[in-house]
Amino acid sequence: MLLNGNTDQFDIIVIGGGPAGMMAAGHAAERGAKVLLVEKTSRLGNKLLLTGGGKCNITNNSEIKDMIAAFGKDGKFLYKALTVFSNIDLIDFFGLRGVQMHSDPDGRVLPLNNNAEGVLAVLRTYLKENNVCILHNSTVTTIHYGSKNKDSIKGITLSNGSRMEATKLIIATGGKSYPATGSTGEGYEIARQSGHTITPLSPGLSALESNYSFIKDLQGLTLKDIVISVIIDGSKKCEEKGAILFTHFGVTGPIVLNLSGKIIDALSNKSKVELSLNLRPDYSTQEFDKILQKEFTSFGSRTVSQYFKKTLPSSLSSVFEKHCSQTSNKKCSLVSREERKAIAVYFTDFRIPIIGSRPIEEAMITRGGVSLKEINPQTMGSRRVMGLYFCGEMINISGITGGYNLQAAFSTGYLAGESV
Ligand SMILES: Cc1cc2nc3c(=O)[nH]c(=O)nc-3n(C[C@H](O)[C@H](O)[C@H](O)COP(=O)(O)OP(=O)(O)OC[C@H]3O[C@@H](n4cnc5c(N)ncnc54)[C@H](O)[C@@H]3O)c2cc1C
Repeated sequence: MLLNGNTDQFDIIVIGGGPAGMMAAGHAAERGAKVLLVEKTSRLGNKLLLTGGGKCNITNNSEIKDMIAAFGKDGKFLYKALTVFSNIDLIDFFGLRGVQMHSDPDGRVLPLNNNAEGVLAVLRTYLKENNVCILHNSTVTTIHYGSKNKDSIKGITLSNGSRMEATKLIIATGGKSYPATGSTGEGYEIARQSGHTITPLSPGLSALESNYSFIKDLQGLTLKDIVISVIIDGSKKCEEKGAILFTHFGVTGPIVLNLSGKIIDALSNKSKVELSLNLRPDYSTQEFDKILQKEFTSFGSRTVSQYFKKTLPSSLSSVFEKHCSQTSNKKCSLVSREERKAIAVYFTDFRIPIIGSRPIEEAMITRGGVSLKEINPQTMGSRRVMGLYFCGEMINISGITGGYNLQAAFSTGYLAGESV
């Protein structure tokens, strides 16, 4: 349904009503263009409403250099977008429209009322105030070009055969994860048809699967403030401090999600990947062995099993007992040096083999997308087709958790809307 106006001729057509598309459409219209926003589903911002578990972690209060670092080696592509519409601009955008934000101790910025609905309501009002025409339940299938060699834009066709004309097109169709929200990855095919390269797609910020024999015994366990290291083919690649959550299939939690990209790349290269958990993060294995020696002395005639029960969550204590079945019934005072050292290793280098990630549909974001080499970072414009622009998750950028991905969607959307 066209909310405003009734013609099929526009200055700009935006495909996709997620955060990137809404910002692009609103800002382009604010600058005076006649804009049509086409959304496949019956509602704008389906995925936005799921963000931060419904609380919407909209951005991060970090400085621009940290913001860029959050996107890894490709982060500098976002420099212009994050400068033209920064995290401060985003917070002001919503603040001026009645949705105040607050930061949590980790720098994550969320609406004061922890509710994504208010954020979506602001964006809808922004579109309405700037007379953006919105077409719901409409899937764009094809782009029309101004010439045979596809170097300019003429318009689009919808799946029902309707045609709309515009010489400028912004594609903001998102990634492939959570397809029920409308983000099914069709935009990649549209971009491919226009001559763009799509770099390989894989799950981003994804939970990981393990074939560890006792994984189901640990389901539901959360270990906080531990050090998690990634071991690839036997050598340690990186470590992070924080929490890990065990599920029926493997592990998840913010740190696991952030490490998942590196791990998925290693697995696709057929490398062996393990997570090493240091449950006593202030100590190395040798240091903890000395502590264990003292603690076993003071535990005296009580058993190793009793020590595990006293010092570990119950499900983990049972798993440790299974691993140390030869020693768990021994009195602590009778444990040999070798046996104690083996126990110290479990506490400081507890290994969880990783065999894969959850499917892309369950990931938080999609890695890969329209090649950065083919997009001008100053404008978000295509280097192949005049009048074609890209923004949001469909571009080959992916950030860590903490509000960075929404900020990138809003910033690239704003820059596309400004440039177009
Ligand atoms: C569960 C979950 C929680 C998340 N939490 C956070 C968080 O707290 N903070 C954060 O920064 N990021 C978070 N993210 C990531 C963030 O939601 C995305 O990065 C962001 O939504 C991307 O915005 P986008 O506009 O590019 O794409 P999307 O939000 O995916 O929107 C794309 C839109 O395009 C439409 N569309 C697709 N194809 C077509 C077509 N052919 N024709 C017409 N319309 C089409 C879709 O229906 C959809 O509405 C989360 C993601 C998930 C799944």
